[in-house]
Amino acid sequence: MLPSRLMMVLGALLLLAAAPAPAQSLPGVAAAATRLGVDPRVIEDLVVANRILAHEGVLDAYGHVSIRHPTRPNHYLIARSVAAEFVTPDDIVEFDLDSNLVTPGESKEFIERFIHGEIYKARPDLDAVIHSHSASVIPFSVSTVPLRPVFHMAAFLASGVPVWDSGSAGDPDAQGILVRNPALGASLATTLGKGVAVLLRGHGAVVVSRELRVAVRNAIWLEANARAQLAAIQLGGQIKYISADEARAMLALRGDPERAWDYWKRRALGPK
Ligand SMILES: [Zn+2]
Repeated sequence: MLPSRLMMVLGALLLLAAAPAPAQSLPGVAAAATRLGVDPRVIEDLVVANRILAHEGVLDAYGHVSIRHPTRPNHYLIARSVAAEFVTPDDIVEFDLDSNLVTPGESKEFIERFIHGEIYKARPDLDAVIHSHSASVIPFSVSTVPLRPVFHMAAFLASGVPVWDSGSAGDPDAQGILVRNPALGASLATTLGKGVAVLLRGHGAVVVSRELRVAVRNAIWLEANARAQLAAIQLGGQIKYISADEARAMLALRGDPERAWDYWKRRALGPK
């Protein structure tokens, strides 16, 4: 082989080695992307978010995650009513912000989809909403002890986590604790305010972000922080929480959402 030819082959091999691995694609992603008018990666990420949150114990048979539609900001994408662990691209459907289904065909909808529609209405800055029944946060939703950051990865909680009480929200249907109508969703959005998370008394939590990856990360760390704070309280003595200055320094670093996402994605889907 001539040296120049050898160099070309070596060069091609080097380029191949440097090229990013092709994105892992779940079956049905392309069809769902066409059906909903989005990039396939949007569908892939939303399905993966469901799987991650299930695998990490944030969502179980109930709870949901949505994203604002990338090109129709008055719509959002969410799975039909199915456990997060089993969500597939075919399950993703589209709602308007009044939480009316706009995807053609039949779909069983989440009762509490109004959480998503009303928060997207109130917060144009947000693109991702997660509602969980994250078990360890429940004590803080029924107690006067506020959820506060006790470890550095939960620094985003330093701005405070309000508690919303469905019983004081003026529910026109008076049907209990679920966010089952727009008025309750709007009331919840008001309590969330400009925050990043809100607890629902005797029910669970909502975590929001501009980025799906950050919302997923924060939902996992919200649960972890609640566990750690409960453990610290059980130890007795005085708790030294993450201070406002320490939180600011952590948040300035921002971290690397891709690294955490890849880690949890591999754990949920397995390295393929
Ligand atoms: Zn719920």
